[in-house]
Amino acid sequence: MRQACPQIESRPPRGDWRDPRAEFHKGVFCYGAAPKNVSALGFPNPREWQPFDADWKLPPDWQRILLDGMQERLRKYRSFRLFMDICVRCGACADKCQFFIGSSDPKNMPMVRAELLRSVYRRYFTLTGRIFGSLAGGRELTEDVVKEWFYYFYQCTECRRCSVFCPYGIDTAEITMIGRELLNLIGCNINWVMEPAANCFRTGNHLGIQPHGFKDSLEFAAGELEQITGLRVDVPINRKGAEILFVMPSADYFAEPHFYTLLGYMMLFHEVGLDFTFSAFASEGGNFGLFSSHEMMKRLNAKIYEEARRLKVKWILGGECGHMWRVMHQYMDTMNGPADFLEVPVSPVTGTRFDNTASTRMVHICEFTADLIHNQKIRLDPSRNDHWRVTFHDSCNPARAMGLLEEPRYILRHVSNHFYEMPENTIREKTFCRGSGSGLGTDENFEMRMRGGLPRANAVRYVRDKHGVNLLTCICAIDKATLPTALEYWTPGVEVGGVHELVGNALVMKGEKERTTDLRSEPLHQKEAAVHA
Ligand code: SF4
Ligand code: SF4
Repeated sequence: MRQACPQIESRPPRGDWRDPRAEFHKGVFCYGAAPKNVSALGFPNPREWQPFDADWKLPPDWQRILLDGMQERLRKYRSFRLFMDICVRCGACADKCQFFIGSSDPKNMPMVRAELLRSVYRRYFTLTGRIFGSLAGGRELTEDVVKEWFYYFYQCTECRRCSVFCPYGIDTAEITMIGRELLNLIGCNINWVMEPAANCFRTGNHLGIQPHGFKDSLEFAAGELEQITGLRVDVPINRKGAEILFVMPSADYFAEPHFYTLLGYMMLFHEVGLDFTFSAFASEGGNFGLFSSHEMMKRLNAKIYEEARRLKVKWILGGECGHMWRVMHQYMDTMNGPADFLEVPVSPVTGTRFDNTASTRMVHICEFTADLIHNQKIRLDPSRNDHWRVTFHDSCNPARAMGLLEEPRYILRHVSNHFYEMPENTIREKTFCRGSGSGLGTDENFEMRMRGGLPRANAVRYVRDKHGVNLLTCICAIDKATLPTALEYWTPGVEVGGVHELVGNALVMKGEKERTTDLRSEPLHQKEAAVHA
């Protein structure tokens, strides 16, 4: 049974916005991190605590730690100082955040979210703030302010939609990242970020899957493919000297509907005879460091490159992941790059040189596949996807952070006869986050997730009602994990899948048996074959 929709209270709250206020009622916050995960990562102040506790067990000198941390970051990151100084409160970003739209809480307006930190910056780091205090827009740093930071910096998915509309280019996601990094200094972090990151350290992936589990899962996938296609595909793991290292999010080999995307990759690699290897060490593309600290992001990203070095591959190919690509395109070069021990990627099938990846040496699977289609190197039968009427959700990180807007659409138009776009102001750079990223996709945070997911689900509803869309495709593992719940809640009747699931369905493989099911083992409703060679 569907739950009642949360009410959106549009009246502004009474009182001064600068009074810190955070009500940790059930459904709108994430649990604090378990001490074992905080300890595993070497983060400070591991302890048992929860946000609804009166006493957060902060370290005795927490205020000094935060102000020193802020000073250090103002020195280190020029963008942070700039963003603290230049907002003119024009309001262009105000109604662009999905959390403000879904909750109507003014502190979820991006510029007000930033102001929670900026007011402390003014009080302690500007001359006028030090002299005039609140008259100059400054705020004392109190425990209530810390609680308010926690509440609102964990109601921002760092999606960067607001930054698209800011005439000054202020990136509120970067402010949230610094806010979370400061909170980490006093041990105020959430388990849904710390646990995946700690698992990544222990076993190489967020889910804590051991190498033998990784191997079993890939071999199971090969068995599934044999039943569907009659072909046995290779599962190379940790193979030294392979040309290409392939890295994907761990959900692809563990969760549903991600698993069907994995099947699509494996079929494609088999069909074009790719000389590649998976890795049980770099068995995770995702990077939860993006949601905790720059240092953590660097450490997790380094793992992929160390493995590429160890296996002596020429370049790296990456799967349908979200934050892997944001880290890769926005931060990798200054953190661990340039990766000049690798070669500039060249497709062994088409000869295309991917000069856009000259410093990261890492190609997105959609770039790779679009190039294969463009050069007519694979045969596709889009009618095998005729049971789907398809739309595409631009996942925030590949879309806004790396500009991967055309390639997924190009692929979808070749593997599907029924592709429909959602309204223009909800796609491409203006895409709406589904409200559960950056570690906020937890069950305890359900109400806020559904509120944040409302604008995206509403746009899906539009194409469902107008065109009969029944499949939302995307290229992010966390989207695939959390969109099904948001759609079930707001827009029932629409399923979620990966772009390479549809590639796998449509791919006409040499020597395959007649297909009777799609990759979900559903009977294939095949119309007249329209094979594009
Ligand atoms: S959730 Fe996205 S739109 Fe909202 S403040 Fe954060 S980065 Fe901006
Ligand atoms: S759009 Fe930019 S300058 Fe305008 S209020 Fe928002 S953050 Fe400030």
